[in-house]
Amino acid sequence: MIRKLLVAAVLVLPALQQSEPTVRIGIGQNAATVTVRSSQEFRVQGQPTRSARFAPIISVGDAADGTVIARDQLRYRMAVELDGNRYLVVPIATHIRIQPPSTSVRLQVADRSYRGTVEVFGNARNTLTVVNELPLEEYLLGVVPNELSPSTFGQLEALKAQAVAARTYIVKNMGQYRAEGFDICDTDQCQVYFGAGTEDPLSSRAVTETRGVVATYNGQPINALYSSTCGGRTESSENIFEEKLPYLVSVMCVFKHPEPRPFKARSFSDFKTTVLAVAGVSNYTELRRFLGVQGTGEPPSSSLAPLSKYLRENFYPGVKPLSDLDFMVEQDILPSTGTVNRNEVLYRMIERKGAFEWQQGVLVSWDGQMMTLTVSGKPTTFRLSPDAPIFFRMGEERTSMTEGSWIGGELFDFRAVNGVIQMVVYRRNFVNATADRYSRLALWQVHKTKQEIEAAFRPLNIGEIRGIRVIQRGPSERPISTEVTGTSGRSTVRALRLRSLLGLRDSMFYFDEERNAQGTLIGMTFYGTGWGHGVGMCQVGAYGMAMDGASYEEILKTYYTGIDLKKMY
Ligand SMILES: [Zn+2]
Repeated sequence: MIRKLLVAAVLVLPALQQSEPTVRIGIGQNAATVTVRSSQEFRVQGQPTRSARFAPIISVGDAADGTVIARDQLRYRMAVELDGNRYLVVPIATHIRIQPPSTSVRLQVADRSYRGTVEVFGNARNTLTVVNELPLEEYLLGVVPNELSPSTFGQLEALKAQAVAARTYIVKNMGQYRAEGFDICDTDQCQVYFGAGTEDPLSSRAVTETRGVVATYNGQPINALYSSTCGGRTESSENIFEEKLPYLVSVMCVFKHPEPRPFKARSFSDFKTTVLAVAGVSNYTELRRFLGVQGTGEPPSSSLAPLSKYLRENFYPGVKPLSDLDFMVEQDILPSTGTVNRNEVLYRMIERKGAFEWQQGVLVSWDGQMMTLTVSGKPTTFRLSPDAPIFFRMGEERTSMTEGSWIGGELFDFRAVNGVIQMVVYRRNFVNATADRYSRLALWQVHKTKQEIEAAFRPLNIGEIRGIRVIQRGPSERPISTEVTGTSGRSTVRALRLRSLLGLRDSMFYFDEERNAQGTLIGMTFYGTGWGHGVGMCQVGAYGMAMDGASYEEILKTYYTGIDLKKMY
């Protein structure tokens, strides 16, 4: 989501202005063609049209016919196709400005619509640069919903904090891309801006209600970095970006300790038996009904050969293997020798067919009856059946719980039918008390094979990788300096470089090395928390703080140490 870099310190800080600035956003930097459209007529160099397709073209005079010329003798111009049937040709560097026919009409560029003016011009690479010029506050309307989703993280105070951070970021970094003809870019290298089509009433309200407000330190706008999920504690800027800033120091991602809400449930025996009880399956006839499979009858015997024939014919009728038993062993449903336990077979059939329809979600709220879980990024409310078995999972072990409490942020595996949860397996999130516990990304785990590790560290040029050792961890426990040892040397890498070499979501992680009997590194597993660089405001943490009642000012002052909020205009 966010991957922005600190800007070189040579930039001149703008003074706090008195009126709303106009900003120029680079919405295309290397386009081969660009099409601008509108529902109403607009003008290109005085020519009326409803569509304008821009393309650089090579132009050489008649004198070049039949001769061989060098690349630098090629001359480029810009052709503009108007309404698909008229052409305008201008010098490639011409800045063509397109005003919308009225302020309520949006210009379409490719598949996005924009407020304000669009400018197209050829750049030094003989490709097209596209700039959207508009008042700063209107720009923010198309940034905030893309940086913090109002549907997933719909808390007004969090969105207001995001609006102030985004406003401060552009004020501070205005002109960063001046050489390219605009102020800042529209990707996660700067701030994600997708134009007017992504605006949302709640995030627009957050922008309007904080109009002109920026975060300052010593009277100047701060470099308001932010990232998705810090994983419990943010990191100091010098440990990630090599620049120390007094307001970007490591802080705990906590507002106030949330109130745990108790739950009670009946006691259940082991996990598999409970799954079968919830499914209502105690024999093969009931299994057939649960899986929605036709047919009747139970297996003639529980010995492997007749049972495997029965299972294959009833549940895999389309498969014609050479050996039914080999097939069922391959499916991991029957053992190749010995005796079988009927419940084990029934359970494995349900699992293999995905018939229990487990869903996964992160607990957002729970009032003793109703629970809201973030499922596939969307908050969804369910009723917890009073009969629902509740299991706690730690590693592969699942324990039936008769009482306990949840505070939100727990990861749930559950089965729901018509909005009613019938069974729950929850995992304690180890960043549980932190404000960013609601993120699906608060915990992650990535396994890398020996080949993947070799490929990742190839740029270090130190031969076959022997091992990795953390030399220093920062206050948030991110490994800020790590030594990688290979057969032909060793190399020390800093946090951001290590994360990008390994392609991990966050620089905050621990790892286990896997070695074979000879001691050779054969793989690694990385266990991490969070997503992003972890410096500055934690976006999901801002949402969590708002859920716990924090104002946008409290949110900003938590993540940016020693700041003040000032109204620029
Ligand atoms: Zn956080």
